[in-house]
Amino acid sequence: MSKLVMGYWDCPVCGTKEIRGDVANCPSCGRARGDVQFYVKDYHEGQSLREEELSQFEQLDDEKAQSFSKNPDWYCSFCNSLNSDNAKFCNNCGSSREDSENNYFQMLQKKKEREAAEAAAQPQVSAPQAKRRSPMTVFLVILLAIIVFFVWMNGNKTSGDLTVTGLQWVRNINIEEYKEFSESGWIVPQDYETEITDSKLEIAGYTQVIDHYEDVEVPYTVEVYDHDEYTLEDQGNGTFEKVAHPVYKTEIRYKTEQRAVTRPEPQYATKYYYKIWRWTPSRDVTASGEDHNTSWPEVELGENEREGKRSEAYAFTVEHSKEKKGPETYTLAENEWMKVNVNDNIYITTNRLGAEPYISDEKGNKLVKLTRVTK
Ligand SMILES: [Zn+2]
Ligand SMILES: [Zn+2]
Repeated sequence: MSKLVMGYWDCPVCGTKEIRGDVANCPSCGRARGDVQFYVKDYHEGQSLREEELSQFEQLDDEKAQSFSKNPDWYCSFCNSLNSDNAKFCNNCGSSREDSENNYFQMLQKKKEREAAEAAAQPQVSAPQAKRRSPMTVFLVILLAIIVFFVWMNGNKTSGDLTVTGLQWVRNINIEEYKEFSESGWIVPQDYETEITDSKLEIAGYTQVIDHYEDVEVPYTVEVYDHDEYTLEDQGNGTFEKVAHPVYKTEIRYKTEQRAVTRPEPQYATKYYYKIWRWTPSRDVTASGEDHNTSWPEVELGENEREGKRSEAYAFTVEHSKEKKGPETYTLAENEWMKVNVNDNIYITTNRLGAEPYISDEKGNKLVKLTRVTK
């Protein structure tokens, strides 16, 4: 069996279909085959075939294959017909082959170029543009909504029906004590009075060391030959050649690799046990009142005591005369608090969410920063 299968052609003059590749003239109208394109029945160009699928095509035995020329047909420039490569003169009009320049494939190529040029000359009809809302428009609408929201948020509301009903102050002094602690560590603090009572080697941490190696199976893939597939290639002489293409498949294989197995190895260091003396917060002394007569509390220091941090807070309570809301308490700076008196009517301005309160004037102009005390 040869590598060739039979090709076919359609008569462009009378429309007769599926004329065999070994027939030079149309059996219906008698015209010599000219600018035709050969094909194989039930096969499209580039299609891959399994070996067993080849049997559906007319395969040529060696003797039949010998009857075709090795090369593509040549194309007569005078009568536009195809002639076997073996023929020196046109079977149709008798012109010399030397007066023609194109073979079957060159004829097809020129035909294709001619058709492309004609298509390019056609006026272009552009597809109508679909009307869609652009992503930019959607983005701008969302941005605008966010800006409107924040402008609204930044707006203030002012409460004007508030009366001061109470004042509070508190002042605190923390008392520190000089005390002994028992502690341990890898280093002894230098900034304190210490007395080392013991030291010994202890495990400070672990490092991973290689204990042994073990074999592990590591997968990897290889491409291996699986089978051939075939395409049918136009020979330009009425036949097509079966061309084999190897097809590969992916296989998983395993190889043995050595992998280190580690174990934790303890690391020893000297740990110190020591007594250490530090100033440490121990108690508070507090003074408070509900008027403007502030003072720091009297402090009596015991043995090993000293004054530590001082802290203070000043607050007032207001009640709503119209709205049914409970009393509210705010803290503020001492100098501003001194100006607030019981029975004062004041305005408090906050943002829309009721946060960031200020004492304000009637129009909402912020005057004194406040902090709301939540219970
Ligand atoms: Zn015909
Ligand atoms: Zn001719």
